[in-house]
Amino acid sequence: MAKEELRRQVVIIGSGPAGLTAGIYTARANLNPLLIDAPADTEKQTTPGGQLMITTDVENYPGFSEGIQGPDLMVEFRKQAERFGTEFLEEWITKVDLQQRPFTLHTDHKVIKADTLIIASGASAKWLGIPGEAKTPHGFGGNGVSACATCDGPLPAFRNKHLVVVGGGDTAMEEATFLTRYAKRVFVVHRRDKLRASKIMQDKAFHNDKIEFIWNTDVTAIIGSVFACGDVQDSVYRQAVTAAGTGCMAAIDAERFMDHLPIELPSGEEVTIEGEHITPDHKFIITPEGEVISNEPETVLSESE
Ligand SMILES: Cc1cc2nc3c(=O)[nH]c(=O)nc-3n(C[C@H](O)[C@H](O)[C@H](O)COP(=O)(O)OP(=O)(O)OC[C@H]3O[C@@H](n4cnc5c(N)ncnc54)[C@H](O)[C@@H]3O)c2cc1C
Repeated sequence: MAKEELRRQVVIIGSGPAGLTAGIYTARANLNPLLIDAPADTEKQTTPGGQLMITTDVENYPGFSEGIQGPDLMVEFRKQAERFGTEFLEEWITKVDLQQRPFTLHTDHKVIKADTLIIASGASAKWLGIPGEAKTPHGFGGNGVSACATCDGPLPAFRNKHLVVVGGGDTAMEEATFLTRYAKRVFVVHRRDKLRASKIMQDKAFHNDKIEFIWNTDVTAIIGSVFACGDVQDSVYRQAVTAAGTGCMAAIDAERFMDHLPIELPSGEEVTIEGEHITPDHKFIITPEGEVISNEPETVLSESE
């Protein structure tokens, strides 16, 4: 069957912050943009709205003095682009021909001719693909496991803690060095006995007192249901009153964690105490508001290979 053909003045690929901003500007300029974005796909790791859809607090986006949740920010971006008339199409661009004008873009169902093309196809994090990476409540993604040191390192959850960066390339060294500004100590776990990072990045990391290397080690799972309190996790204060305080903190953390653990129903579906349903194939979480969220691994510590 012949594919449907469309012709537009301006076509934008990607609905992350870049694509949607391009949509706002070109729509306001009466250029009738068509914004094409890949549908949600856990294998290909795409989500309309881009990377900020998989994060929680965004504290450094101007205009939000109290910070904003990533998905909420992207909803606002999209509404603004829609308000000025940006047209949306949810399909994968599988091929582009930029040799002649108008440019030709292919999706599974359409051929799109564009006088001008704005590419805002972004990036996606590289996952380890191990148990424990999945987004909370099934794993620790967004809850201690992050794919972006610059974004999440300054958050209270990571401050003054022992952090782990996985990888041995330039990005791993850069992220590890950056995290030493906030962390108590940064452990770089690498599966070989030498780094692949450039010499200058290696030197920086080796000379940083806060970075420790763990060689020839594969990270195979992230297990976070252990909560420590009292003198076992305190080499400084070791007093009854501090032990009691951390006991209270561990109990509350454990309770919160348990609240997120799912209970299996006879149908095979699982449900958490907070009313989130997990589909029998474990691929999706349905929130009490009916929102369907991918339950696939989404975040790693910081990875670079
Ligand atoms: C966990 C995490 C936390 C972050 N936190 C912060 C933060 O606090 N502050 C901050 O400033 N930045 C943060 N970032 C970085 C920020 O998300 C990115 O810089 C930003 O999203 C980049 O925007 P973009 O529009 O270029 O691309 P993206 O957001 O990556 O969007 C690109 C879009 O293009 C689509 N696409 C790709 N290829 C195709 C194709 N062939 N066909 C159709 N569509 C396609 C994708 O599906 C995606 O929706 C974070 C990133 C991550 C991963």
